[in-house]
Amino acid sequence: MTVADAGLSPASQSELHALAFTDPLTGLGNRYRLRDKLRQLIAERSADPAPFTVGIANLDGFKPINDLFGPSSGDQILCQVAHRLKACIPDGATVVRYDGDEFAFLLPLVFERRSAEKIGTMLKEVLSAPYDLGDRNVRLSASFGFAIHPFAGEEFEDLIKSAETALYRSKRRGRGQITVYSTEIAEQMKRSTQLEQALRNAIIANEVDVHFQPIVDLKNDTVVGFEALARWIDKDLGFVSPAVFVPLAEERGFIDALSETLLRKAAEAALSWPSELFLSFNLSSAQLMDPSTAFNILAIINRTGLDLRRLELEITETAMMTDPDTAQKIVTELRAAGVRISLDDFGTGQSSLSRLRDFAFDKVKIDRAFVCRITTDTASDHIVNAIITMCRGLELEVVAEGIEDFTEALRLKELGCGMGQGYFYGRPVDAAATLDYIARKYIDCDSDDGRQVMTG
Ligand code: C2E
Ligand code: MG
Ligand code: MG
Repeated sequence: MTVADAGLSPASQSELHALAFTDPLTGLGNRYRLRDKLRQLIAERSADPAPFTVGIANLDGFKPINDLFGPSSGDQILCQVAHRLKACIPDGATVVRYDGDEFAFLLPLVFERRSAEKIGTMLKEVLSAPYDLGDRNVRLSASFGFAIHPFAGEEFEDLIKSAETALYRSKRRGRGQITVYSTEIAEQMKRSTQLEQALRNAIIANEVDVHFQPIVDLKNDTVVGFEALARWIDKDLGFVSPAVFVPLAEERGFIDALSETLLRKAAEAALSWPSELFLSFNLSSAQLMDPSTAFNILAIINRTGLDLRRLELEITETAMMTDPDTAQKIVTELRAAGVRISLDDFGTGQSSLSRLRDFAFDKVKIDRAFVCRITTDTASDHIVNAIITMCRGLELEVVAEGIEDFTEALRLKELGCGMGQGYFYGRPVDAAATLDYIARKYIDCDSDDGRQVMTG
């Protein structure tokens, strides 16, 4: 039965119609209004089609605020968001409340990616100003996804789906991101999701392994420890670099499961090494934002029975920067338990000197980017020299990463670099090959003058 059949007057019919197209909380249109407007626009332009854009904004962190301050505060925020969006969208554009904390736009005069990104940036700024809740102010950011007609879809449903895909990617990349849909992005998202599924299965099936790369004392080329490096070979995808799958596990929220497996395997392997050799393990940025990290690591290590004083954890500056207070607490707790902390990839991030002074590190690892140019580029040589001198002054140990040949090793020794790591001394290999490697070194030392001697 239609409204006309129900015997309503034309005035009541139009009221009912308006009601069906309106969001009762904010007074904005709803998704049906958006669909209606979009279909009208396509019809108007049927003779002379020109591109236009559909966008979706989703508030970041709205749910915790709603849970914490109660639904009426949540409603107030949604109304303020609606008000701001209505006030700042371009002339001729439509904004609606699409769903929950999601708002959608129809932008008839936005034809291409850059303009969509520009509008996204403007809306993001508008939404990031504090929200007044009477007794307090709160701040929120928003993520955006845009889809351009007709490239991202011809019909309403397809366009919205593309905008949602773009929004999903923005959300995955953190807060306040803006993505405009393209087929490459859709492909990328599909690949990441396949990779995620494969990695989750590999963790369950215990197929993610850990390899070990020697770290040597450059004074006499003896092995002093090993860095654990994650390795995964998928039966369909082949070798996948940890530089790809570690960030993916962080992004998709299962880095803890991955890291726990890796640390346990690494610690178990280290139990078979001579007790003077340390195990160096990489921590990811998500772990440095999680206050339970120190407890979890200590629990895993205690369960394996490895002496905590043999464990070193590598962290990067960039990873620490997201939440420095939590990172500081984690580091303090771990150091109090006897674990040592290395600053990894030094020289590539901010290389903040005050952080070196204020944060309690034991060791600095000079990034391969400098080490690999040390013999060919004077600037790199100077930088490495300066880092070594500074670490000596600060009483920090120093490791040069990525030593690939004899001349690099020689130069680092001349500069007084304490430790080195790289293909020249050994590539990362699995636990069994690591034991062979150690055995070879110790046999060398028995047959020699009592020291372990490495030939690289
Ligand atoms: P990283 O911690 O800086 O590790 C050193 C990387 O340099 C490793 O790459 C290693 O294989 C490579 N490398 C060592 N010596 C040489 C050399 O002489 N030449 C060249 N070209 N490369 C060398 P890999 O194994 O691909 O790991 C990449 C990054 O992935 C690591 O950088 C680390 O940030 C991350 N990663 C690896 N395993 C783990 C893990 O278990 N947990 C976490 N959170 N991150 C990991
Ligand atoms: Mg490392
Ligand atoms: Mg490194």
